[in-house]
Amino acid sequence: MDPTPQRSRWRAILSRRCPKCLEGAVYHGFLKPNLRCPECGLSFEREPGYFLGSFYVSYGLGAAVAIPTVLIVLFFEIPVVWLFPIVFVWVGVLGPLIVSYSRVLWYHLDHSVDPR
Ligand SMILES: [Zn+2]
Repeated sequence: MDPTPQRSRWRAILSRRCPKCLEGAVYHGFLKPNLRCPECGLSFEREPGYFLGSFYVSYGLGAAVAIPTVLIVLFFEIPVVWLFPIVFVWVGVLGPLIVSYSRVLWYHLDHSVDPR
């Protein structure tokens, strides 16, 4: 089995590229999404409310950030009163990245299940 397509897929996700052609940018600018792929013309909004799926991915990514942070706070016995500010700042700093990558991950997940 040739590992190149999967490697290309991960590279496309990390560089926020189209799930179909793996070349066109999903965003122009940092957080301004394109409605269509500038390379292959794939519509990124398949149907009304399509982006709601990315909220589930965003929740998972947020938990992937918050849970290890909570465990580190508990492991190093940092006073629990610091837990909320630490998680708030940490997720706040990573929030834009989480929002951005959750949409891209949603596109790739959905396209791998139901390519059109
Ligand atoms: Zn494309």
